[in-house]
Amino acid sequence: MPRHATVTGQHSGSLLRTRATADIHPEATGIVKLDALPLTRWTPDDGRPLVIAGPCSAETEDQLTETVRRLPVRRVSYLRAGIWKARTRPNSFEGIGDRALAWLRRAGDRAQLKTATEVAHGQHVEAALENGIDLLWIGARTTVNPFSVQEIANALRGVDVPVLVKNPTSPDLALWIGALERVSAAGIRKLGVIHRGFGTASKTRYRNHPMWEQVIEFRSMLPNIPIVTDPSHIGGRRDLILEIAQRAMDLGLDGLMIEAHPNPDQAWSDASQQVTPERLGEILELLAVRRATTADPQFNASLESLRESIDRIDHEILDVLAERMRIVARIGEAKRAKNVMTLQVARWKTLLEDRLQRAGELGLNMEYVKALYDVIHSESVRLQSEIMSLPPGERKK
Ligand code: PEP
Ligand code: MN
Repeated sequence: MPRHATVTGQHSGSLLRTRATADIHPEATGIVKLDALPLTRWTPDDGRPLVIAGPCSAETEDQLTETVRRLPVRRVSYLRAGIWKARTRPNSFEGIGDRALAWLRRAGDRAQLKTATEVAHGQHVEAALENGIDLLWIGARTTVNPFSVQEIANALRGVDVPVLVKNPTSPDLALWIGALERVSAAGIRKLGVIHRGFGTASKTRYRNHPMWEQVIEFRSMLPNIPIVTDPSHIGGRRDLILEIAQRAMDLGLDGLMIEAHPNPDQAWSDASQQVTPERLGEILELLAVRRATTADPQFNASLESLRESIDRIDHEILDVLAERMRIVARIGEAKRAKNVMTLQVARWKTLLEDRLQRAGELGLNMEYVKALYDVIHSESVRLQSEIMSLPPGERKK
């Protein structure tokens, strides 16, 4: 699988986005250039996704030995295990600490697997490197803190080790990229990111919402940085891992980090999201890895013609939106003349009910149409407020 497949729709705006337009617009943000090696220069170039697997936390040396004995080692490139665990609440298991680094190293050696662990400050980096850990990642709770990331970057100066930066807990692309820039500036060229989903205020089926649009935006801004998806921390439930991993493959992402434990239900952390090493093997077998393109002329001709239809429909949508805004402006002028409020809650409620009913009849996803109308309506209110605040006698150009 080409690991830097172009993701279709990469410049499209997303309704789920939480960031200001100026921040997300490709022209405004542009491409961020980092000096990073292609993934194929530091992992096997076998056309398959990079797999990092192993328990959430190192618990005992036997647990790690048992994990590698049962892991599908031919499909796994790195054995992971958390040594120092950043837990949300105190009194949870906070990791074995430095002592477990040697266990991880020995378990990796036994199965000829490279090893990976999370680092949260400079001393972790030093301890991990002293014990021969092969890959380091920065956890989501650390990425949010530029002081910590800078401290880690300082400890990495002059070291040739792959480093992956997990996305921050909130959907803040600039913070994620900023962390990556700090690591890059320390001279790390085996550089990548881990997509582990984002915390949301509302309860969803995921532990951390995948917000795929953030990943698409990331890829369009940093096309040369490999992206590894972590379906375990996104799903929070082992039964969601396969579908999330498949989605990552459908988008042409480069790898997967999956938590596997010899006895998942008894795990000392993240029990509900870990799978047995055997189930990990099944998941990897079941995954369909997509090609970026194909040479099949019939497929390409039909894709081309369908894309032309999409282009035409999008132009029609924009024409209709422009027409709608002209009418919104006329209503705004009328309200201004009579000094009537822009936001009419009752009208908005009936409008939305009507559009959602119609959307349902047309078989459209209601959440999608609701999000669409939230944006359309807030832009209408914004335009009318602008009209209302014009000085007397002046009209909007
Ligand atoms: C982990 O990988 O075990 C972990 C703690 O993940 P995150 O930083 O994504 O919460
Ligand atoms: Mn975990």
